[in-house]
Amino acid sequence: MSDNLDDEFPLGDGTADVEAIAYCPYCGEENSLSVDPGGGPLQQYVEDCHVCCRPWEVTIRFDHEGHAWADLRTTDE
Ligand SMILES: [Zn+2]
Repeated sequence: MSDNLDDEFPLGDGTADVEAIAYCPYCGEENSLSVDPGGGPLQQYVEDCHVCCRPWEVTIRFDHEGHAWADLRTTDE
């Protein structure tokens, strides 16, 4: 992680969400995702469902108030 990112994205100062709630597209279970505001306002990565262990394509967005929104998609479409 670069310190320069904090300058460009001030939500990494502790006021932004550090977790987001999302529902698994496979099993429908609620999952609480740990998110890192210091990673930037838009983040994409692959993570396995905490319940059924199938892989999601995760998109995390932070809004201007620091709320994190998670969008989960299947990787097999
Ligand atoms: Zn699942």
